[in-house]
Amino acid sequence: MAGVLSQTGMADIVLATLNARFIHASFGLRYLRANLGELMERSVIAEFEISQRPVDVASALLDFEPKIIGLGVYIWNVAQTTALAAVLKRLRPDILLVIGGPEVSYEWETQPIFEMADYLIAGEADLAFADLCRGLLGGQALRDKVIQAPPPDLARVQMPYGLYTDDDLAHRFVYVEASRGCPYSCEFCLSSLDIPPRRFPLPEFLDQMRVLMDRGLRHFKFVDRTFNLDLASSRAILEFFLQRHQPGRLCHFELVPDRLPETLRSLVARFPAGSLQLEIGVQTFNEHTAALISRRQNYLQLEDNFRFLRRQTKAHLHADLIIGLPGEDVSSFAAGFDRLAALGPQEIQVGLLKRLRGAPIARHDQQWGMIYNPLPPYEILQTKLISFAQMQQMRRFARYWDLVGNSGNFVETTPMLWRDSAPFKGFLAFSDWLYQQTRRTDAIALLRLAQLVWTYLTTVLRCPEQEAAPIMLRDYQRGGRRECPEFLRPHVPRNHARPLQVPPPSSLRRQSRHQAGDAEGPSAGCL
Ligand code: SF4
Repeated sequence: MAGVLSQTGMADIVLATLNARFIHASFGLRYLRANLGELMERSVIAEFEISQRPVDVASALLDFEPKIIGLGVYIWNVAQTTALAAVLKRLRPDILLVIGGPEVSYEWETQPIFEMADYLIAGEADLAFADLCRGLLGGQALRDKVIQAPPPDLARVQMPYGLYTDDDLAHRFVYVEASRGCPYSCEFCLSSLDIPPRRFPLPEFLDQMRVLMDRGLRHFKFVDRTFNLDLASSRAILEFFLQRHQPGRLCHFELVPDRLPETLRSLVARFPAGSLQLEIGVQTFNEHTAALISRRQNYLQLEDNFRFLRRQTKAHLHADLIIGLPGEDVSSFAAGFDRLAALGPQEIQVGLLKRLRGAPIARHDQQWGMIYNPLPPYEILQTKLISFAQMQQMRRFARYWDLVGNSGNFVETTPMLWRDSAPFKGFLAFSDWLYQQTRRTDAIALLRLAQLVWTYLTTVLRCPEQEAAPIMLRDYQRGGRRECPEFLRPHVPRNHARPLQVPPPSSLRRQSRHQAGDAEGPSAGCL
C-alpha cells in the first residue's frame, strides 16, 4: 500500500487526507498537528493519494485505533474522501469524523460528506481543531455540528515546518507562507471572501526558513496569495534568500502583476538565473470582464512590470489566464492571450474557469448563462458567449498548450507554430489539427508529440525542413537527451546530433491556486 504514513502505532487523533499525488505534502495537516499542544503526542498524520482505494485507506486509518479522524477535503479529493467517509462510518460509527478544508467551508449543506461527518470546521482550523479535540476527548459533546472558525491571529499559530520530515524535504513540494489572506476581491477566488491579510511574525518566520535551509531544503514554495502586498516584508524575505543564495536553491512567489515598485525591482534583478520563479495572475485583459468580476488591475503598469522582469531580471515567469469569465468571448480571450504572449513569460497557464464553492462569481450565472459541471472541479461548460463546442475546443487548446508551450520541450519550436499568424490563432489551428490526428489530449509520448509537431510544421505550414529541423533538434536535446529523433536525421548534419549544454526546464512546476481551490496544492490551516 502506497500511503504516506508519517507514524505508525496507536493514536487517538488521526489527521488524514488524500493528496493528488505523492509529491504534494499536506501543509494543512501539518499546521493542525503543530497546534494540538498537549494532544500532539496522541496524534499522527496519515497521507494517502487519490489513486488509492477508499477501503484500503480506511483499513490503514483504523489500524491506529483512533477516537477522532480529521479529514482534509479539497476540490481534488472530495469524491474519494466522501467514499472513504462512507466506508469509515459503516465500519466504525463510533469514531468521530471531523471534516474541514476549502471544499467544505462553504455550501456544505448539499454535500453528502457533510451528512456522514460528526463535525465540520469551516475556515482556518489551526486552533479550532485543537479546541474541538480537547473538548471531545474530555467527554464534551458539542451541540453544533458546524464550527465556524474565525481567521486566527497568526502570532498565536505554531508554524508547522518541524513536521516536514527529511524525506519530505528531499522528495516532495514543501510549502511555506509568511502571510495569509488577500485584500482584493476577484469574484472567482475564495481568497476574496473578506479574509483580511495577516502576517506571521517575520523574525520567527525567517528563523524557520533558516532551519529548513540547514536541513537541506532547496525549493521554497511560498503560498502567500499576494507576496508583494507588504513591501517591507517582501523586501526582507527577498534579501534573506538573496544573502543565502546557493546554486540549486529556488524560491517561488505569487505576485499581483501591477505592483512592483523600484524597491522590489532592484532586489528581484539581483537573483541569479534558476533561483527565482514568479507566478503572476493576469486572468483577463478584458477590462469590462475585470470590472464585472471586481478584479482591479492596472494594465499599463502590468505590462511595464512584465517588460522589466523579462528584460532586466533572470526570474522565470509563469502567468495565468482564465477562459470562460463573464463577459469574455473567444475573440476577447484570444486578444488577451496574444497580448500576454507578446510580454514573453516562460509559461502561460490557460485554465478553464471553475465555480468554487462559496465564490461570489455565482452571482453572474443567470445573466451570463454560466453553466458549470456539477462535479468537481466544477469547470465551466458553456457561457452566453462561448458555446459548449467552443469550450471543448478551448479545453483542448489549454491542454496542448501545456504539452507544447509550457513543457519546456518546444521552447524555440512553439513560436514557429504561429509563424504566419498571431499566437492564439496559430496555436488554435495546430490544436485543432493535433486533435484530428490523435483524438486525445493525454498520454501522448514526447517522441510522438515531437513527430506530430514536425509533421504539422513541414506539411501544413510548409516550413522548410532545413529551417525547422535544427530548431526542433535543439529543443529535443535541451533536457540532456543525446539522441537525434529518427524523423529529424535526414535533415540535420551528423555532428548536430550531439548533446547541448542547455539547462532543463524549470524543476518546480506550479499550479495556479487562485482559481483551483488550491489545485493539488496546499491550503494552510485547513483539515
Ligand atoms: S485572485 Fe489573487 S488578487 Fe484576486 S482575490 Fe484571489 S488571491 Fe487575491
